[in-house]
Amino acid sequence: MSLLTVENIYKDFSGLQVLTNVDLQIEKGEKHAVIGPNGAGKSTLFNVITGKYKPSRGRIVLEGEEITKLSPNKIVYRGIARSFQIINIFPSMTVFENIRNAIASRMGIRLRMSSLLHSNKSVNKATEEILELMELNDRRDMPVLALSYGEQREIEIALTLGLNPKLIMLDEPTAGLNKVDTARVIDLIRRVTADKTLIIVEHDMNVVFNLADRITVLYYGEILQTGTKQEIRNSEKVKKAYLGMSQDAVTD
Ligand code: ADP
Ligand code: MG
Repeated sequence: MSLLTVENIYKDFSGLQVLTNVDLQIEKGEKHAVIGPNGAGKSTLFNVITGKYKPSRGRIVLEGEEITKLSPNKIVYRGIARSFQIINIFPSMTVFENIRNAIASRMGIRLRMSSLLHSNKSVNKATEEILELMELNDRRDMPVLALSYGEQREIEIALTLGLNPKLIMLDEPTAGLNKVDTARVIDLIRRVTADKTLIIVEHDMNVVFNLADRITVLYYGEILQTGTKQEIRNSEKVKKAYLGMSQDAVTD
C-alpha cells in the first residue's frame, strides 16, 4: 500500500481550473520532488493534500484512510507535516523560547498560556530535540534576531519534526536563500528526512536531482509526467515543456 494516494484531484478557484485530474502515489520512504513553472499548481496541490483547500473532486488517502475532508489540524495529527512558517516569531525572545512557542502552538497549546510552558515536559523535550538537531544549543539563549535568515528558515524545517510525522511536505524551502544557506538547508532536509517520506517543491534542479528519488512535473495544473530522475531527465515531453523557460532547467 502506498503511504499517500492522490486520486483524480480537481481544484478550481471560482471557475479558474488550477488542478486537473491529478494522480500521485507516494511510497513510504520515498523522496519525491514536484516541479513545474510558476502558477502550475504546485502550492495548490500542497494545500489540497494538507487540507487548507478542499478539492472540487477527487480523494486523498493516507495509509489506506481517506483524509480528503479532514481539517488541516486533523491532517497534521494523522501524520502529514508541512514546513511551518513561524508566524508568531518574537525577535527579542530567545531562540529557545521561539522554538518552544512554535511547538506549543503546533500542539494546540495557546500562547496566552505560555507562562505554563516551562513546565510542559513534552513541549520542552521536543524543543531540546530541535535545538540538538540544528546544532543550536550554544545559541539557545540568544535573541532570535541573532540568527541569520537562513537559520530562521532552518528552524521552520526542523519544526516539521515536532509531531513525528509520516510525511514531510516542503514548499520551496530554499527560496530566497543564498548558495551557502541553500546548501545548509538541503543538508538539514537530508538529515531530517533520512528515515521519512518527503514531498518537496523546489526550483533548483541541482537540488531536485540531488535529493529526490522520483519527480512529478506539473504543467498548467496537469501532471505531465511522473518518473524516476532518469526518466524525467530523458523525457522529451518534459524538455519541450521547459523550453522557453530555462534551456538547462531540466538537463543540468
Ligand atoms: P505554483 O505553486 O505552481 O506556482 P499555485 O498553486 O500557487 O502555483 O497557483 C496556481 C494557480 O492558482 C495560479 O494561477 C494562482 O493564481 C491560482 N491560485 C492559487 N491560490 C489561489 C486562491 N486562493 N484563489 C484564487 N486563485 C488561486
Ligand atoms: Mg508555489
